[in-house]
This record gives sequence, C-alpha cells and structure tokens, in this order.
Amino acid sequence: MATKAPKATCLLCKSKYTETGMTKHLQSCLPKSLENQQNHQKFKSQPFFHILVKGSYSPEYWLHLKVSSNSKLEQLDQFLRDIWLECCGHMSAFSYRRNELKMGRKLKDVLSPGMELLHEYDFGSTTELLVKVLAEYEGPMEKNKSVEIIARNEAPEIPCDECGKAPAVQICTECQCDGSGWLCEACAEEHECGEEMMLPVVNSPRTGVCGYAG
Ligand SMILES: [Zn+2]
Ligand SMILES: [Zn+2]
Ligand SMILES: [Zn+2]
Ligand SMILES: [Zn+2]
Repeated sequence: MATKAPKATCLLCKSKYTETGMTKHLQSCLPKSLENQQNHQKFKSQPFFHILVKGSYSPEYWLHLKVSSNSKLEQLDQFLRDIWLECCGHMSAFSYRRNELKMGRKLKDVLSPGMELLHEYDFGSTTELLVKVLAEYEGPMEKNKSVEIIARNEAPEIPCDECGKAPAVQICTECQCDGSGWLCEACAEEHECGEEMMLPVVNSPRTGVCGYAG
C-alpha cells in the first residue's frame, strides 16, 4: 500500500512537520511553550508526561500527547479508545516487557522517560500501539483534562486499489485480506461484494478492522 503522509501541525506553535521532524521539534517547542505560559498562567502547574503513541504496524498514525502524571492508565486507555479504537467494547491492556500493567495504576507510579509500553485493543483482531514516554515536565494543563493532544498525523492519502487514481474512501473487508479492497467513491459503488462489507477509511490505525467506523 503506497501512502503519502501530509505534514502535521504542531498545535503549540502551528508549524508543520513530518513525523520524525515533529518528535525532534517538540523536544524544544514543548519546554519553550511552558516557559511562555508561566507568565500568564490560567491553570495550575502539574507534572505531565510527553507521550508519543503510534501504530506498531502502521506508524503513519501517531499522536503526541500531554498526559497528567496523576492520571491513571485507564484514562489514557479511554482516550485511545475514543480517538482511535472503540468499535464494540473489546478488552484492552497496557504491558511493559510482556508484563501487563493494572489499569488502575497512576502514570507517575509506572512510567518514566525512555520507557516504551505496548497497548493492545481487542485480542481477536488486535490493534497494537507503541506508547513511548519521551519526557516529563511540569506545567499547566487544561482544566479537568488528563490528556491533551499536542500534534496528530494528518490522514494519509491512500490511493484506490482498483483505479489507482482517486483516494480510497471505503474499505471492502472481504477483499482487504488479499491486499486489495481500498476503494475510491466511484469504484466502491460498482464493487460486487456489497455495501454491508464496506467500512469507511478513517484516520486511525484501526481503519478497516472489525466494525471500526471512526
Ligand atoms: Zn511547535
Ligand atoms: Zn469490534
Ligand atoms: Zn477507484
Ligand atoms: Zn470486495
């Protein structure tokens, strides 16, 4: 599958970067933005982790997050379900070096910069995410929020498997096992497998899996 990833926007300074560029950029942009915020602070300072989450097998989907160190793993799990994963209430788990971590644990008790966790959603058609802890800072977070997005990938442009001309908007779940099945609007309409096999293309590593419709 040939994909083209448009540059993403840093929500702190509005500059645009590729995936690797963004990780590098945020090492300086994030601490700088915290310094600027200190002068006119609306919210109380608190410790938080700078976390990068991306698809293990689809790294073109990624999120840079601020996650309060006092929040629990289940809050990060809920956030990932809401933005990327939830289709029919499957089970999920975080693990570190193959050891499952209890969802009720606070981030500050289990995480430290440099750690890399695995997050799995649905133990049948699993969507596997890498959760990289990049740094820990002290600074304001939006009220009542345990997770804030700093940057997110733009939807990759995936060409239609049939005509190769237009971007795919539907996925035929029947045909995608054979490596085709990503269809543009026109090809989806003529496709023989039927509408009930179709899932929409969405900006998530779970696109086309189980009943995930965004
Ligand atoms: Zn920035
Ligand atoms: Zn499902
Ligand atoms: Zn097409
Ligand atoms: Zn089909």
